[in-house]
Amino acid sequence: LKPLLEIRNLDVSFRTQDSSLRIVHGLNLTLAQGETIGIVGESGSGKSVTSLAIMGLLPKPTGFISNGEILLDGRKISDLKEKEMRELRGNDISMIFQEPMTSLNPVFTIGDQLSEPLKRHKKMSRKERRTRIIDMLRTLGISRPEKIIDEYPHQLSGGMRQRIMISLAMLGEPKLLIADEPTTALDVTIQAQILDLIRTINKQKNTSVMLITHDLGVVAEICDKVAVMYAGEIVEYTDVRTLFDKPLHPYTQGLIASMPNMNERKGELYSIAGNVPRPTDLPKGCHFSTRCMYAMDCCHEEAPPTTSNGCHSVRCWLHVDQPEGHSVEIEEEKNVQ
Ligand code: SF4
Ligand code: MG
Repeated sequence: LKPLLEIRNLDVSFRTQDSSLRIVHGLNLTLAQGETIGIVGESGSGKSVTSLAIMGLLPKPTGFISNGEILLDGRKISDLKEKEMRELRGNDISMIFQEPMTSLNPVFTIGDQLSEPLKRHKKMSRKERRTRIIDMLRTLGISRPEKIIDEYPHQLSGGMRQRIMISLAMLGEPKLLIADEPTTALDVTIQAQILDLIRTINKQKNTSVMLITHDLGVVAEICDKVAVMYAGEIVEYTDVRTLFDKPLHPYTQGLIASMPNMNERKGELYSIAGNVPRPTDLPKGCHFSTRCMYAMDCCHEEAPPTTSNGCHSVRCWLHVDQPEGHSVEIEEEKNVQ
């Protein structure tokens, strides 16, 4: 199966006054057409920066790809010119964000805003556009779309605005939909509906989905595989079932332990003590060593390599077999298929 998206050894950096700061380091992942991947981690883990790098939307001129490459359908997109990238966005890759109110323009009707990607990417008459938009809204479970398209964003609920954003993202029929915390601002019932909608899009249109979230529960709902990020690196990468059955990285174990459990509502919710270190302030050795209850001497000295059995990879010294007197053979950044 040819991958749709391939990220190889990606570093993303930001220029500072006199040097640059690496925010994302050594990222490898692949996504096939129709697959869904969750990128999970606390804020400051580099997951949003990764998605912006894919979209070619890193803040200019400070943010840049300092190493590695991103391929879409076998084509290298990480060094495209802005004009070519604009052609790709909304057409091959679309993105939805957490707060739809800020992404919708308050002074234009929903219909006007939904017309934009069609004007940009497709040759259609006004009437064809209108039909297409109404069809899309109906497909995405919006009743009375004829009425909605003449309304303004502030007239709609948060959940409806997110549906409109998803419609907007889907109108260009992208191969890849990136959703950055798409349900975080919504209440639980609406959250479930939006996840349902993303699942439906994935199944019906075979759109690949990259879901960025701090919430492992959301990943469990709709993703095939998952990459756990911590302080700019993927620390664990496998299919969703394996991650929940057999989490290897202490950070992943902590995330799972801190998931609210419906059966134990009374208990205190576990949370991992401490915060993600700032990129200016990364500890020597393993980035997680300042919060890890298993940290050993070597963890504070040297960064662990990524080891993999082919479908489950982890970056932790606990999972490196180190025969006496032998140096560790580093299986560098093997992709999970
Ligand atoms: Fe913990 Fe060491 Fe593994 Fe890092 S390498 S997660 S500090 S055990
Ligand atoms: Mg974010």
